Amino acid sequence: MKYLEEFSDPDLAKKLVDQIHAATTRKWAMMEVCGGQTHSIIRHGIDQLLPESVEMIHGPGCPVCVTPLEMIDRALAIAARPGVIFCSFGDMLRVPGSSQDLFSVKSAGGDVRVVYSPLDALKLARENPDREVVFFGIGFETTAPANAMTVYQAKQLGVRNFSLLVSHVLVPPAIAAIMESPACRVQAFLAAGHVCSVMGTAEYPPLAQKYKVPIVVTGFEPLDILEGVRRTVLQLESGRHEMENAYPRAVRDEGNAPAMKMLADVFEVTDRTWRGIGEIPRSGWRLSEKYREFDAEQRFDVTGIHTAESSLCRSGEVLQGLIKPHLCEAFGKECTPRNPLGATMVSSEGACAAYYTHRRLELVDAK
Ligand code: SF4
Repeated sequence: MKYLEEFSDPDLAKKLVDQIHAATTRKWAMMEVCGGQTHSIIRHGIDQLLPESVEMIHGPGCPVCVTPLEMIDRALAIAARPGVIFCSFGDMLRVPGSSQDLFSVKSAGGDVRVVYSPLDALKLARENPDREVVFFGIGFETTAPANAMTVYQAKQLGVRNFSLLVSHVLVPPAIAAIMESPACRVQAFLAAGHVCSVMGTAEYPPLAQKYKVPIVVTGFEPLDILEGVRRTVLQLESGRHEMENAYPRAVRDEGNAPAMKMLADVFEVTDRTWRGIGEIPRSGWRLSEKYREFDAEQRFDVTGIHTAESSLCRSGEVLQGLIKPHLCEAFGKECTPRNPLGATMVSSEGACAAYYTHRRLELVDAK
């Protein structure tokens, strides 16, 4: 705990805040990519400590939020089948699909289980050879290595009744898509430190150069965020657009070589649809040919899904930083964490949940 407290030191935080105020001479809008950073910013009130002219735009880096609706519906269809044990992290159970969620399937008799690791699902498969065990593999470059390792182990052990429903997405193509959008207001990025701890930083300098935006790799504690903002403001004010690593205690430029090797073996890059955003070319992973036999989509043939989003939910605009969550008309009314209309209100990293949990509710009526 002591180590974490050092990164919440109020005196050091005040110094960084003062430096940011002193350095800022005009309006800037920067996006924190990761939902974990969004929660840290809102929970600690960091956005309210910054100069009014520095706007934090919340990014699409919440794995639960961006998992596409058709993939949720596929999960629901597979989980409802007799003989299937469907395993997932807990957050996914309450994410609304077109007409229900995984909790509804469970209450209707489906064998849906919360696990804490994909390896737990593999263990279940070995213990239940007469059942099909499926793990819902969602998330960014952070969760993918464990899922890749599990599929690798399943193949090594010859476990044939295990499969992965793969919905992995990649951060750098999303940064490019945000910058290519005509509605883009983002002038700089705080990149997600844990993604870079796996993949390294090599993909970011070309993006910074191409789109002329500073990209500062940033951690998740209050001082990490403030240092990321400070470095970003200094770059913006001096007209620079470089990749900087402000999270060296966790991120090495070369990344985690064994994890990257495992990912390259088990997965291959593919186009992916992001919930609320749409298709982004080459923005995800699917199982490579060598491991395709473990692909739940193929094993259960869940094609022909027709999706239907809530007409009230504006999570696509939230995920692209076009509106703040409390500006959605349903925020805190039709949509709450107990009755979520969109994934951004469900997930522990979702921006709507962050605003609902940590902001005063009178903000519901702010326009
Ligand atoms: S408050 Fe609810 S309905 Fe509105 S964007 Fe967020 S998740 Fe969707």
